[in-house]
Amino acid sequence: MTTTGHSKAYDAVIIGAGVVGTSIAWHLAGYGCRRVLIVERAEQLGTGSTGKATGGFRCQFSTPINVQLSLLSREKLLRFQDEAGHDPGYCPYGYLFVATDESQMNTLREALKVQLEAGVGVAREVSVDEIRQINPALYTDDLVGGTFCEWDGFTRPMDILNGYYTASQRLGVEYRFGVKRVQVWRASDTVVGIMADGEFIPAGAVVNAGGAWAGQIAHEVGVELPLYPLKRQVAITEPFDELPETMPMSVDVSDGFHLRVRDGRVLLLYPHGLSEERTYETAFEDAWLPKVLARAHQRVPCLHQAKIDRPRCWAGLYEMSPDKHAIVGEAPELCGFYLANGSSGHGVMHSPALGEIMARLIMGMELPLDITPLRPTRFAEGDWNLDTGVL
Ligand SMILES: Cc1cc2nc3c(=O)[nH]c(=O)nc-3n(C[C@H](O)[C@H](O)[C@H](O)COP(=O)(O)OP(=O)(O)OC[C@H]3O[C@@H](n4cnc5c(N)ncnc54)[C@H](O)[C@@H]3O)c2cc1C
Repeated sequence: MTTTGHSKAYDAVIIGAGVVGTSIAWHLAGYGCRRVLIVERAEQLGTGSTGKATGGFRCQFSTPINVQLSLLSREKLLRFQDEAGHDPGYCPYGYLFVATDESQMNTLREALKVQLEAGVGVAREVSVDEIRQINPALYTDDLVGGTFCEWDGFTRPMDILNGYYTASQRLGVEYRFGVKRVQVWRASDTVVGIMADGEFIPAGAVVNAGGAWAGQIAHEVGVELPLYPLKRQVAITEPFDELPETMPMSVDVSDGFHLRVRDGRVLLLYPHGLSEERTYETAFEDAWLPKVLARAHQRVPCLHQAKIDRPRCWAGLYEMSPDKHAIVGEAPELCGFYLANGSSGHGVMHSPALGEIMARLIMGMELPLDITPLRPTRFAEGDWNLDTGVL
């Protein structure tokens, strides 16, 4: 990393004050990077995807690198209160995946092998009888089995974001909100800073933490990333006390329908039935509601009694990469331009690990994990591995 001598120069400028950008900032400052600036186009925190996330946390992924990112993040979440001074709301109530046929079971078993090899000793296959004990609310007559992991569960995305934000400010990280136009600035094949609403800000490193919009930020400076936004909707019920807060995230592998309880209300997610998925537009589509409700009533019959609180339902964006893995590293065609993108709907749960990895990468320190599977060049090389997770 190089530093310019200009008085307004920064060692690192991060674009995007979501959970990924703020985590990187906190880790950079913690490792002694003195001048760190985050620029954010919104006027306040949490207007991107982080504020839309439902807070799921899981180790049950199907590739070693995604499991390792979860394990590193879990260690860091367990220390978060002590280190960042904020409760991240980590509640390990588990994730319960349920399958309706043997082919789905085999996919779960393959993933389970990966999880066990990576050290998630508590992940296990469960029978239909065990499923009934773990979540008695589920309709189980059509199930053949599932998997469960008790380290999985929930976090509070906005508490993690606020934790990184306040803790990074204590370490001297500066924030600029409401910056309408941010462009990465280059001289030949090296980043030299950013242009923020017409003001040039020199920087030794620029980090793209733009979430679902990261592809646009990169494109403007001539770096092409295969990222795309994916719209996801959440239906939320009125207060409903038939399902406990401790109910694990319950995921129907046949089509990705899943649900959890948060603050006495049920959150329902179904990754199908939207008019258009690849869009930056996030207006809530009412035509999707009967579809998610039909799935909910079939899988969790007591939800017939629950009412949807329509004004509180919302839509947001996943930041997808083609193999559902983050893209992490320095852009090969632009020195000093660092990418922390494409977490594909897992960015909150992996943000502690991504912050640690990115800060060490930028500062030239040893990395806690081999991040070769996340390298930006893998798509051009045709060497990537899809995560088969349904969410
Ligand atoms: C419905 C839903 C449910 C989800 N559930 C989960 C879950 O259970 N668990 C989980 O881990 N993840 C979940 N996610 C995904 C998670 O929200 C994202 O992976 C995560 O928030 C990404 O963090 P980020 O910091 O990269 O992006 P963001 O939080 O979107 O932050 C990016 C920031 O960059 C800013 N920005 C963009 N472009 C520019 C620009 N040109 N100039 C300046 N600023 C810019 C944006 O305003 C934004 O504030 C969910 C997402 C949705 C939509």
